[in-house]
Amino acid sequence: MRAVLLGPPGAGKGTQAVKLVEKYNVPQISTGDIFRKNIKEGTELGKKAQEYMNSGQLVPDELVVDLVKDRLMQDDCANGYLLDGFPRTIFQAQELDKFLAENGQKLDAVINFEVGYETLMERLTGRRICKKCGAGYHIKNIPPKVEGICDKCGGELEQRKDDTRETAENRIAVYEESTAPLIGYYTETGALKNFNAEKDHSVVFEEIVKELGE
Ligand code: AMP
Repeated sequence: MRAVLLGPPGAGKGTQAVKLVEKYNVPQISTGDIFRKNIKEGTELGKKAQEYMNSGQLVPDELVVDLVKDRLMQDDCANGYLLDGFPRTIFQAQELDKFLAENGQKLDAVINFEVGYETLMERLTGRRICKKCGAGYHIKNIPPKVEGICDKCGGELEQRKDDTRETAENRIAVYEESTAPLIGYYTETGALKNFNAEKDHSVVFEEIVKELGE
């Protein structure tokens, strides 16, 4: 199964990715996670990406495309993958298409998450992430048992730097300008499947599985 998760920040792509990875046994390729790991480890790539990420801008295409292509060539991607947060520009989508054609692959679906602005802001600003294991929470919707502490590993929960109100607003604006055009792009290729992601995440999951097949 090869699929792309498309949608604004806060739409629930990461939450669905965790469940879909388990269901379909394919790796989740999250460019945001790859950048955050590089920032944490202080790599050259991390240093280059950090400023863009902290201000809610997109990391330049040339830093993203080869990284994803290399990742998709790895053995664990042979039977499929779930792209989460890539492509984010028309250029990236075209590069992905080239890669797919060169490797005799095809996308099964582009899963498009539809969510209104207020919901996105509420989800982004309330989101908390475990510093240690990366598990995701929300202060209202998915609260941990003990405030500020991860249920799974006991690690401390923190807010992502780019989930503050100002940066979140900026990220949504960047999505509208640079990423939303992909909806038209994938409508034309016939791969686009729309989902109302205002619904509870378990309902959204069931609907995606219905579309992708068991
Ligand atoms: P995410 O975790 O998907 O919300 O991504 C966090 C940030 O990483 C974004 O706001 C961008 O700065 C950067 N980023 C992640 N994926 C991409 C991409 N495909 N193209 C450009 N920038 C990206």
